[in-house]
Amino acid sequence: MTVLRFYNTLTKSKDDFVPLNPTRVRLYCCGPTVYDYAHIGNARPVIVFDVLFRLLRQLYGEGQVTYVRNITDVDDKINARAARDYPDLPLNEAIRAVTKVTEAQYRADADALGCLRPTVEPRATEHIAEMIAIIERLIATGHAYAAEGHVLFDVPSMQEYGRLSRRSLDDMIAGARVDVAPYKKGEMDFVLWKPSSEQEPGWESPWGRGRPGWHIECSAMSWKHLGEVFDIHAGGIDLVFPHHENEIAQSRCAFGHDVMANVWMHNGFLQVEGEKMSKSLGNFVTINELLRTDVFGGRSWPGTVLRLAMLRTHYRQPIDWTVAALEEAENTLWAWAKLTHKLVPQPQLAPEVVAALGDDLNTHGAIMHLHAMKSDPQRLADNLAALGFEGLSAWVDEVEKTAVDVAWIEEQIAARLAARAAKNWAESDRIRDDLAGKGIALKDNKDGTTSWEVKR
Ligand code: AMP
Ligand code: ZN
Repeated sequence: MTVLRFYNTLTKSKDDFVPLNPTRVRLYCCGPTVYDYAHIGNARPVIVFDVLFRLLRQLYGEGQVTYVRNITDVDDKINARAARDYPDLPLNEAIRAVTKVTEAQYRADADALGCLRPTVEPRATEHIAEMIAIIERLIATGHAYAAEGHVLFDVPSMQEYGRLSRRSLDDMIAGARVDVAPYKKGEMDFVLWKPSSEQEPGWESPWGRGRPGWHIECSAMSWKHLGEVFDIHAGGIDLVFPHHENEIAQSRCAFGHDVMANVWMHNGFLQVEGEKMSKSLGNFVTINELLRTDVFGGRSWPGTVLRLAMLRTHYRQPIDWTVAALEEAENTLWAWAKLTHKLVPQPQLAPEVVAALGDDLNTHGAIMHLHAMKSDPQRLADNLAALGFEGLSAWVDEVEKTAVDVAWIEEQIAARLAARAAKNWAESDRIRDDLAGKGIALKDNKDGTTSWEVKR
């Protein structure tokens, strides 16, 4: 078997990948909090770790890879959004409405980006019992304490806290903006469980009616679906601290192992046109907007183009999301789509592509190998399909079908202007309606000329 090597945030080195069970791989990626459309930065882990999933499936067998990506459907951001968007509904119904719509949107976006559905997509609200069980173990082993309806993780009780992010407790305390709360023993102690008011979503627990903190959700869902220890845990680099550090603290202290997962993989950040994406800078762009509106670059973009643009940069590097990069990706993909038009792909990664991806997911290298396949379109088609670029033939068909015959349109416009000059309004209207029927809209300008555009 090809040797895979991945950069591991835990060891700070590129290590040979050895699954705990030689014939089965278990992978967890932190998923979205479903309160709003996902932005294009959120798409990065979705696409990058989909490529990892595909690589592992080819090497270990489709049924031998369990990929879990959770859905966080209990969170105070969701509550706030529900109250804002559905003020007339009881809060629990409003919350369900928000999470249902957002979850469906997330799935549609991930599908459009060519990503396979994970093996399991667990929802936090369906794993409350597992969360309570972990919290009870942590209390029993002296790693957590209950106070005023809250349960907190006792950070100083864990010797190796900070190992993933390589921070000492003192540094963390110095650098953190921790909220001081009377029920906290240590400054870095974090919430496992907190009380809910009558209106807030809540579940009965040994500590009263309440709801979980964010970090405990992933410990519970990975335990349920992957076990106490598993192979790869993935997510964006911003999650290393505190989220992943806290997941590790919870799972290791509850189950008594040296690690929670053997390999920790983190994607770098995405910025837009050279700047950090933010609503205040006006460069915040959602996957939905890229796919279905013209807010980015004045046009919409096929999901396959977004996917290629994302994979041209190595996943650990920062990526700059620009219109120019999307155009370049589109030109490349269009050339490949034309080359492979009408071929029936047998999805399969070629050995050199496997070797590139097996070297810490070197997607840039894999794409270079695709360029070298121009002389063998079938091989190109097979590899494109195996990398998640589907529907390329249909794209070519669609564009060719709607390609307009510019010369013919100009002729029609000239004929219409002649008819108008002759005051033959019936003929002029007939030509305009005929063009409209073909999706061409005319606009008569003040200077006597007529311009046209395609209306789809
Ligand atoms: P969040 O909803 O903020 O928890 O993010 C969901 C996932 O998207 C996490 O894995 C984040 O690390 C990742 N993510 C968020 N923003 C960006 C960004 N600008 N670039 C790359 N990844 C991001
Ligand atoms: Zn997580």
